[in-house]
Amino acid sequence: MRATLYFRGSLSSCNYSCPYCPFSKTTDSAETLRKDREQIERFVQWAGDQAAAGHTLSIFFQPYGEGLVHRWYREAMIALSYMPHVERVAIQTNLSAKLDWTDRLNQDTAAFWATYHPGETTEERFLSRCQELHRRGIPFSVGSVGVRSAFEAIASLRRSLPEDVYLWINAFKDRGEYYSVEEIEWLRMIDPLFELNLPDYDSLGHSCRTGETVFFVQGSGIVKRCYSDRRVIGHLYRHGLEGLTQPRPCQMKECGCYIGYVHMPELKMEQHYGAGLLERRALSLGFQPNAR
Ligand code: SF4
Ligand code: SF4
Repeated sequence: MRATLYFRGSLSSCNYSCPYCPFSKTTDSAETLRKDREQIERFVQWAGDQAAAGHTLSIFFQPYGEGLVHRWYREAMIALSYMPHVERVAIQTNLSAKLDWTDRLNQDTAAFWATYHPGETTEERFLSRCQELHRRGIPFSVGSVGVRSAFEAIASLRRSLPEDVYLWINAFKDRGEYYSVEEIEWLRMIDPLFELNLPDYDSLGHSCRTGETVFFVQGSGIVKRCYSDRRVIGHLYRHGLEGLTQPRPCQMKECGCYIGYVHMPELKMEQHYGAGLLERRALSLGFQPNAR
């Protein structure tokens, strides 16, 4: 099977303090960190074992908090990136950690989803990290939430980023009809695919690859189908991919998050992102065409 796995361990701490985030400036106990490390190591071991079963994997680490400040996330990325049956390994990160370790990554498979938090870092600092990844030829996307207070910072970052780095903007949806027509037009100039993220897509009863070839795995091995549906569909280590896979129409009313709706076949999101879908690189627009 060709499967995509989103993985989230017990970590729930971050070195940043974004006001809208429950994990801001929190610290985990030594016990929680130990648990998180063991969960990541077990998952990497399991992933390695899947070659024998003929499975091909794409893996996305999506911690609650910042993972790359911890050695075991960096080591997991490196190990997975060299497994022949792993097509892609990516992580969501604020890019605050040093990047010298990325020299050890297999650049053909590793990628980053880097989120810019203007209130938590300077453009100069964030940009220098992006330039470092760019110099090393590691594929990555950069993104931010499109709240009005961040407009200026987003525009400035776009001007400074290398031209072939895609900058996505997540629509702010907490308040309905937040954007004016002019603002949408302006945001589209920065992120040509902004409007794909703007709607909450009708999804109830619609086909979705989550639960069939895409799975959301928690540290203990518990598996849910997606970011939104809280129901448990099985256990990675007990059931394996063969025991989990099943076509499952969506049971939620709407789907408004990139990591969910990109798996709805009817939206044909591959045509925009191609092989960059996991880390959100818009390959159709010519961004980072040299990176795989
Ligand atoms: S960087 Fe991400 S995880 Fe950390 S506080 Fe900000 S939003 Fe939360
Ligand atoms: S909410 Fe989105 S990701 Fe989850 S099953 Fe429905 S369409 Fe798929």
